[in-house]
Amino acid sequence: MFKNDLEVTLHKASADQMKPKPDQDNLGFGQFFTDHMFTMRWDRQHGWHDASIQPYQAFNLDPAAMVLHYGQAIFEGMKAYRGKDDQIFLFRPDDNFTRMNQSAVRMCMPRFPQDRVLQALRAMVYLDQEWVPRTAGATLYIRPTMIATEPALGLRPAEEYLFFIINCPVGAYYAEGFNPTRIYVEDKYVRAMPGGVGNAKTAGNYAASVRAQVEAQEKGYTQVLWLDAVERRYIEEVGTSNIFFLIEDELITPPLEGTILPGITRDSVLQLARDFGYRVSERRLTIDEVIAAWKAGTLRESFGTGTAAVIAPVGELCYKDTHIEINGGVTGELSQRLYDELQAIQFGYREDPYKWRVRVG
Ligand SMILES: *Cc1c(COP(=O)(O)O)cnc(C)c1O
Repeated sequence: MFKNDLEVTLHKASADQMKPKPDQDNLGFGQFFTDHMFTMRWDRQHGWHDASIQPYQAFNLDPAAMVLHYGQAIFEGMKAYRGKDDQIFLFRPDDNFTRMNQSAVRMCMPRFPQDRVLQALRAMVYLDQEWVPRTAGATLYIRPTMIATEPALGLRPAEEYLFFIINCPVGAYYAEGFNPTRIYVEDKYVRAMPGGVGNAKTAGNYAASVRAQVEAQEKGYTQVLWLDAVERRYIEEVGTSNIFFLIEDELITPPLEGTILPGITRDSVLQLARDFGYRVSERRLTIDEVIAAWKAGTLRESFGTGTAAVIAPVGELCYKDTHIEINGGVTGELSQRLYDELQAIQFGYREDPYKWRVRVG
């Protein structure tokens, strides 16, 4: 549903539209945005059109814009890394755009031309290259988004959409060390159900999960571990990350059966762990199996995976009245090795046998 000749126009920010750069040692997450953004529009008559890289700015949205009422909104999260010899890399960006198009199909939104958008993204990151942090571990976080803009009430797929990409420099996720998290196993709320939208990166999934996150934090936990919606037994995800368990010599993660997000970090970890020689399984795993392994002394490690944190080691799980300490509450050997290996590939300090890196400029 798009023309192959999508032209991207460039409106560079003038000197007075350019913002002062934030302090690179206090970036936090998602606080600052670069000088430019990418936007394009879709309607039934023209397909994708009006693609441009332009100064970062607010846009007008009609109060009847369908996204505000019915929630047709999808997004992605990826990063640009400044690494070896000052080169800038993206990590598996095609996979993010493929996944975004899958989310689009699920939400009855139009697919977009991935190659053209990736080209535009590379041009924009190159243009804003001074915004890609130089401090160790800091990166440029990239947020492609698509929303329904047609002003109309009445539930149906919208006929007008806006696609945009905004970028923000973010600090090292582990500024205070690679510390394992305390996780609350959620047995009241659920994140996704079979036939639902758990495998789409769509805004409503996150809105629906905040209540559980807030209650877990009030109890002193960092995040929740989600169980399946039908039996409340099978492990699905941790917060907005995929989850792994190392039991004896088997590295286990739940299978992609529609209720979990197909993480690109998850997929990279599966590949690396296989090459490290681990027995790797994508299979269903119950919370009871995890507790039994802990009692038997065979539960060795657990960690979450996602673009923001890369690897987030789990130090403790709380399920009803059971408190499970994992690996003495410290980061395990495999978690550390995967983190080091992935970061080294992402920042360009290691060979890239899987062809995951894409150079910018
Ligand atoms: C984005 C996301 C992930 C992680 O995906 P990555 O591609 O590894 O960043 C996992 N779970 C949920 C729910 C997510 O939204």
